[in-house]
Amino acid sequence: MAWKPQNDVAMAEIKKIDGFIAQVETDKKDMIYQIGETFFKKYKDSENMDEELKILVDNIKISDTNRKVWINRKMKMQGMRICEGCGNVLPYDSMFCNRCGIKLGPVAEDLVQLKGVAPMMQPPV
Ligand SMILES: [Zn+2]
Repeated sequence: MAWKPQNDVAMAEIKKIDGFIAQVETDKKDMIYQIGETFFKKYKDSENMDEELKILVDNIKISDTNRKVWINRKMKMQGMRICEGCGNVLPYDSMFCNRCGIKLGPVAEDLVQLKGVAPMMQPPV
């Protein structure tokens, strides 16, 4: 027979404890995230890295690239592009930036495949 709380006070206490457990778990996830972020910043350009960690670091860089590609695709649908020099928003077919003056290269519109992940986790083509 399952244990049942005897009264409302016990119920409230259990609910409170559940909240503390959830908070500890959230804090732990935040700390693990911070470890990852610290590692990424410190070692993102390092060649001497454990292969498993190198794949994760590379995939973060690929994800940053793919984020830009998605933004580029969205901007293109609106007839716009972003200057890679200064972030200025320009008409899609601009040759030069009218703010910083650089010659604009082709807009990156190809998604990059992640390393070592299942096909279902890859970005759509
Ligand atoms: Zn510019």
